[in-house]
Amino acid sequence: MTWVLNGVYLVAAVLFIFGLKAMSSPKTAAAGIKWAGVGMVLATLATFFIPGQDGGFAYFAADKRINLLLAIAALAIGTIVAAWLGKVVKMTDMPQMVAIYNGMGGGAAALIAAVEFTRPVPPTGVHAVLAMLGAFIGSVAFSGSILAWAKLQGVMNKAVRWPVQNVGNVVHSLVTLALGIAIVVWGPNPWLVIAFFVMALILGFALTSPIGGADMPVVISLLNAFTGVAVGLEGYVLGNPALIIAGIVVGAAGTLLTLLMAKAMNRPLTNVLFSPITGEAQAGGGMEGTMKEVSAMDAAAMMRYAGSVIIVPGYGMAVAGAQHKVYEMTKLLEAEGVDVKFAIHPVAGRMPGHMNVLLAEAGVPYDQIFDLDEINSDFPLCDVALVIGANDVVNPVARTDKSSPIYGMPILDADKARQCIVIKRGRGAGYSGIENALFFAENTSMLYGSAQQAIADVVHNIKELS
Ligand code: NDP
Repeated sequence: MTWVLNGVYLVAAVLFIFGLKAMSSPKTAAAGIKWAGVGMVLATLATFFIPGQDGGFAYFAADKRINLLLAIAALAIGTIVAAWLGKVVKMTDMPQMVAIYNGMGGGAAALIAAVEFTRPVPPTGVHAVLAMLGAFIGSVAFSGSILAWAKLQGVMNKAVRWPVQNVGNVVHSLVTLALGIAIVVWGPNPWLVIAFFVMALILGFALTSPIGGADMPVVISLLNAFTGVAVGLEGYVLGNPALIIAGIVVGAAGTLLTLLMAKAMNRPLTNVLFSPITGEAQAGGGMEGTMKEVSAMDAAAMMRYAGSVIIVPGYGMAVAGAQHKVYEMTKLLEAEGVDVKFAIHPVAGRMPGHMNVLLAEAGVPYDQIFDLDEINSDFPLCDVALVIGANDVVNPVARTDKSSPIYGMPILDADKARQCIVIKRGRGAGYSGIENALFFAENTSMLYGSAQQAIADVVHNIKELS
């Protein structure tokens, strides 16, 4: 029986790895999600066949540690809630959902450790150390992710800071780890275990609360990596290979994504964690020049008679759900002989890959979509850059103003195009709260309105001109 079980776990692990590999390209991502999902179903089903689960379905079998009825009930509730949420969640709320699910993973890993510590014969030696580390990291990931959810959902202020926060957090971490070491050395005294978990949970809040603005995606990705590591450690404690591999895969992928995102924003990870951007300092900062308004008719004419147009989508396009109209406009322009490309910043929108997903959903071909590195040299040669509901990712102060909190963050060079048209509703700032020099530039025109309506008006006018 054991070799069959291990065989199924191996198949599940292979599906996780190939699924993740497939997720690295938009073309194969949907299939990758399905493979990983099948792997997860296999691993979950196999777990019910681990020998020694003699608790059966007897709810009141108090001396039994495993109760299949409770396990099935928990799985059923989790599956129903997750399937329902997955169906109803809005595209713009996806980051919050990722944060909360990630937190659940960390919390589950911490709970495994909690159960292990309350066993009649608790883990000792290496098992105790790994259980404790998994509990520590899992608890931080759990409470940190809940706070990340609250920030992205707008339930709480973006960044909360207090004096000597960094030193306080280091001391807090050391005290929590000391409690954990005490559990390993002296055994899981209930008060010690409770104090350890409370401290670890508060640490997750304390570490995440000062972080806000443009650093949020990096933090969510880092917490995701934490969850993976915690799950992997608890997998070792339980002796479950599928859990170990799933945890390591998530931990490694999350770490790589975190580093890639930090690089994309030119923010060393230490700065993200210890010198967070708050944005408040720069909000409303004085800008030279004026914002010039353009009509939908003029914007349509500028693009209809252009040789090349680069479209920069941002969070506002996602909120407005304007991607289908944008693609309709693209096809009209192409029919008139205009070369149209899409430029995607790594942190455009509110989650990694946000814009790629939206454009793919609208049917935009992948070969028309370019990353920052690929397209930035095209802006000086292009006639019109059309910025749709993007703000921080095209803010030239990142290049020019050393005092700006986003100084050094790579941006899409929309300001270098011959003409730039920006679609947004008004004078609202971007996520980081910083004023945007692009909007005041000589070659920039503002087309005010919600992206959906503004693009619909442009589409109408392009048709009139054709
Ligand atoms: P921003 O959040 O910087 O700006 C969005 C702009 O869209 C706003 O200025 C707003 O202006 C406009 N807008 C809002 N609603 C609409 C609408 N219905 N129609 C038209 N415009 C609208 O977006 P970017 O994509 O440029 O940058 C993303 C930001 O989010 C970065 O700071 C990034 O770090 C951060 N972030 C990214 C995450 C990720 O993983 N991608 C996760 C978390 C944060 P107005 O109100 O005037 O309309």
